[in-house]
Amino acid sequence: MSLLELKGVGYRAGETTILEDIDLTINAGEWVTIAGPSGSGKSTLVRIIASLLSRTSGELNFAGKSIDTYDPVAYRRRVSYSFQQPTLFGETVRDNLSFPYQIRQLPFDEQRAVAALDYVGLAAGDLDKAVIDLSGGQRQRVALLRNVMIYPEVLILDEVTAGLDAENKAFVWSMIRHFNGDDGITIIAITHDQSEIDAATRLLSLADGRVTGGAR
Ligand code: ADP
Ligand code: ADP
Repeated sequence: MSLLELKGVGYRAGETTILEDIDLTINAGEWVTIAGPSGSGKSTLVRIIASLLSRTSGELNFAGKSIDTYDPVAYRRRVSYSFQQPTLFGETVRDNLSFPYQIRQLPFDEQRAVAALDYVGLAAGDLDKAVIDLSGGQRQRVALLRNVMIYPEVLILDEVTAGLDAENKAFVWSMIRHFNGDDGITIIAITHDQSEIDAATRLLSLADGRVTGGAR
C-alpha cells in the first residue's frame, strides 16, 4: 500500500525553484535512500515530507489523505525527522528520551527507555547522565532513540551518519536495520556514503531539484 504519494510537488523560494515536479510513491515498510549532489534538493524534499516545510505546489498524500488535513502534532507522531547534527535537548539523557512523550502529553515509558539504552550499549544509570558527557557516537544513538521512542510509521534520516567514525556508523546502521526490519518502520534516508548507497534496496536520485531515478 502506498504510504506517501507526491504528485507534481514543487518548492520555490522567491524566484528560485528548488524542487520541481516531484512524482514519487513510497510504500509502507520500504527503505528508500536518497542520493544526489549537494544542493540538489534532498534536504528540502525530506523536510517537505516531514511537514517541516510546506511545498509551494503539487499534492502530498500520507496514508491516502492530503497532509494538509492532518493535525501537525498527530502527523509528527507518525513521521519522525532526524537532523544531520544530533541535537540533544535539555541536560540529561532522560530529558531527551522523555521529550517525545512530553510533546504528545503522554507519560514517559521509563522501562522502555532503559531497555532501549541497554540495546544501544548504554546503561540504565545513564538515563540521568549529562548529555555533555556523552561521546559523539553516543549522542547520535540517543538522538535516534529519541525519535523512535514512540514508534513512528516513517523515520526520515538526513545524513545521520555523517561525521561518525566507522564503528559508530555501522552501529547506527544496525539500529536503522532494526527499526526497518523488526519494527516495520518505513525509512527515508539521505546519505553521501557509498556503502550505504550500495546497500539501499531502493535508491532515489535527485539532481537540480528533480528526481532522476527511482521514483516508480
Ligand atoms: P541538498 O540537501 O541536496 O544539499 P537542499 O535541499 O539543502 O539540497 O538545497 C537545495 C538548494 O536550495 C540549494 O541550492 C540551497 O542553497 C537552496 N535553498 C534551500 N533552502 C532555501 C531557501 N529557503 N531559500 C533559498 N534557497 C534555498
Ligand atoms: P524485543 O525485540 O523483545 O523488543 P529487545 O531486547 O530487542 O527486545 O528490545 C528491548 C526494548 O528496546 C524494546 O522495547 C524494544 O522496542 C526496544 N528497542 C530494541 N531495539 C531498539 C532500537 N534499535 N532502538 C530503539 N529501541 C529499541
